[in-house]
Amino acid sequence: MPIDPTLPYDDTNIFARILRGEMPCSKVYEDEHALAFNDIFPQAPTHVLVIPKGRYVSWDDFSERASAEEIAGFVRAVAKVARDKGLVADGYRLLANVGQHSGQEVAHLHVHIFAGGPLGPMLSR
Ligand code: AMP
Repeated sequence: MPIDPTLPYDDTNIFARILRGEMPCSKVYEDEHALAFNDIFPQAPTHVLVIPKGRYVSWDDFSERASAEEIAGFVRAVAKVARDKGLVADGYRLLANVGQHSGQEVAHLHVHIFAGGPLGPMLSR
């Protein structure tokens, strides 16, 4: 069920629980601004999620409310995860779902990193 990204941040969402250490994750990277972990239902040979440490519902919320330092730290963390996993040479795809039409299911901003082989068309219609 897609979330409504206009609602206030809900601290019970699953990624908030992962950030608080209440739920396990397959951690790939962590720094002061971001946590990266493997998606539990991978849709590509490599499928990593990168989330900011702050309480942001979506890309829309993050871009509006986060500090310049948080935004820079998060963007650099996404790129660092991809670089450290050796994905740059063969390429990768970033995706951030926002709201109902995108199918966003978790109400904490997350960027998907897909890689590990040809990823096919951008959208299947
Ligand atoms: P989205 O549809 O963009 O909101 O993506 C949510 C993603 O979170 C999906 O790809 C799920 O497989 C993934 N996911 C949900 N719960 C977990 C979890 N506990 N650990 C890792 N990935 C998860």
